[in-house]
Amino acid sequence: MDPIKTMGIVARARSVGENDMMLTVISENLGRISVWAKGIKSLKHKAHASAAHLCYSEFIIKPKGDIYVLSEAALSESFYGLRNSLESLSEAVYFAALAEAVSAEGIEAKDVIKLLLNSLHYLEHGKKDFFDIRLMYEIKILEISGFLPDMGSCAKCGSENTAYFDGAAGEMLCENCGRQGASGVSEDCAKLMKMYSSSQLKDALNFRGARDAATEGICVLQRFLAEHIGAVKERNYLNNIIGM
Ligand SMILES: [Zn+2]
Repeated sequence: MDPIKTMGIVARARSVGENDMMLTVISENLGRISVWAKGIKSLKHKAHASAAHLCYSEFIIKPKGDIYVLSEAALSESFYGLRNSLESLSEAVYFAALAEAVSAEGIEAKDVIKLLLNSLHYLEHGKKDFFDIRLMYEIKILEISGFLPDMGSCAKCGSENTAYFDGAAGEMLCENCGRQGASGVSEDCAKLMKMYSSSQLKDALNFRGARDAATEGICVLQRFLAEHIGAVKERNYLNNIIGM
């Protein structure tokens, strides 16, 4: 079979033996794929720096059974600056794990890649608050996956005065319809979550949400995200690092 050329981002990189790695690549046109990178751990390998974790590159790969074998990779963006702090790196690794969780083999992943690349760029360059960008990213991931609840109105009566989020049912609720087990949501947090759920990516990236409201949103959505999307290990690790 002829080699395939595709742009993609390395969402996960797992060591196999002394020199090889199995990469999980989110490819624009092939979706989530496994790519065997033979000898990639050697510094002499010509794709060593372009097929590393979180790198966005043009990959030339050949199908082999259920997986692909790496032939070449040309780096487009390394996001190297994310490695300057453990907090940023942990958040980036978590973002990549969420992107991986909502991608599937054979299904185009252009939206996921656009969201991930932009978010990593904003995170790397400090263009958006650390907590604010996480809340935005989580909401946009839910949107891409099709699990995003209606954040703008009460799921029971339609009132726009939302005051609770039921993480088990995935429902926003108003003061009157709030039920046991649902988390209270402040007005600022409800507004911020509504803004991110209803806006285009460009507007969401450039909006400045207050850190308190974003942190509250992250806590409120945690259970729902864990149940419907995953990336629990990476989320717990990030939360440990930042003391959440
Ligand atoms: Zn209601």
